[in-house]
Amino acid sequence: MIDVALEQVSKEFGKVKGVQNVDIRIKPGEFFTFLGPSGCGKTTTLRMIAGFYYPSAGRIVFGHEDVTILPPNKRNTGMVFQNYALFPHLTVFENVAFGLEVRKKSKAEITEKVERALGQVHLGDFGHRRIDQLSGGQQQRVALARALVIEPKILLLDEPLSNLDAKLREETRLEIKRLQIELGITTIYVTHDQAEAMSMSDRIMVMHGGVVQQIGTPEEVYHRPVNRFVASFIGESNLWEGVIEEIRGEEVKIRVAPSLVLTALARNCSPNTTLTVGTKMTVSIRPESVREALPEEQLRTNAVVGKVMISEFTGISVNYLLQVQALSLKAMFVNHKTQVQQRGDELYIYIPKESVYLLG
Ligand code: ATP
Repeated sequence: MIDVALEQVSKEFGKVKGVQNVDIRIKPGEFFTFLGPSGCGKTTTLRMIAGFYYPSAGRIVFGHEDVTILPPNKRNTGMVFQNYALFPHLTVFENVAFGLEVRKKSKAEITEKVERALGQVHLGDFGHRRIDQLSGGQQQRVALARALVIEPKILLLDEPLSNLDAKLREETRLEIKRLQIELGITTIYVTHDQAEAMSMSDRIMVMHGGVVQQIGTPEEVYHRPVNRFVASFIGESNLWEGVIEEIRGEEVKIRVAPSLVLTALARNCSPNTTLTVGTKMTVSIRPESVREALPEEQLRTNAVVGKVMISEFTGISVNYLLQVQALSLKAMFVNHKTQVQQRGDELYIYIPKESVYLLG
């Protein structure tokens, strides 16, 4: 197990700033994910760790070794590419053996290690098959076996599930996670899929426009987003603009519409935000924290009437798009027992003050 440090790493492509000042320390054995939309710089960062790009500035350190300008084959990393980059005319065995042959290992060692790697990805009986005789999911596992067979210190995965259909993607992400825990290998994973990142990672680095937005556990980035971008990119959120009207002890009153003032708790706000009367804030409310108001809650603060614009029954939940005065509000009721409301119906809803998050 080895740790990976990026110290103020930047990469420029001519005038284009690919990534700027990435500063992270990935712990030994950690499953660490770079998450963000297309073009945010996650692949560029991974490629610098693999050695396919050299940084324009900064240092990359594995354990105690500075690898900033070390060629890829000297870094002891195993990489799975988005398109797998397998040799279609070779067999599964030959594909997986490739890295060991390049390293001039003996025939006996190659056979033993390839068989072990194929066993790890449940392809023990597939060694003789040609790549073009395999399904997409099986090809994905060959790519994983090929990365693991060299017993790398660090496993790098670049959108490894994006070519699989939704069901297989879910199964495979569990498989990768199981293997990663079993091997205890430091793993860096690139994806634009927030559900994938949330379900697999120990920590996530959220990127946007080449700049790191937040680094934290899935719970931290979900429940304590540092800004509007993170709040909207991770999960769903209702984002309303408001102005602070009153601060009394722990409670903050914020006006979000001419006749709607919400109460929030001062501790539920993004870091480095100063709460003062008159300050503009973004209010973030997760759809699943909105509830149907109980009769005794209907006159309380944070109870509002919403008009149903769209309702959908998914089996697990009823999802509503509501109009609250001039605002729209997504609400998700899990374990919903009462009748599903239809377009035009009115619904009393309640937003617990603990669930109102303030973004500076
Ligand atoms: P995607 O998910 O689409 O691969 P990404 O988040 O991985 O996106 P990068 O591929 O790292 O993003 O790209 C970051 C920025 O750097 C983009 O603006 C991209 O156009 C630019 N870029 C990446 N590679 C090069 C290159 N070889 N030459 C010039 N610009 C590049």
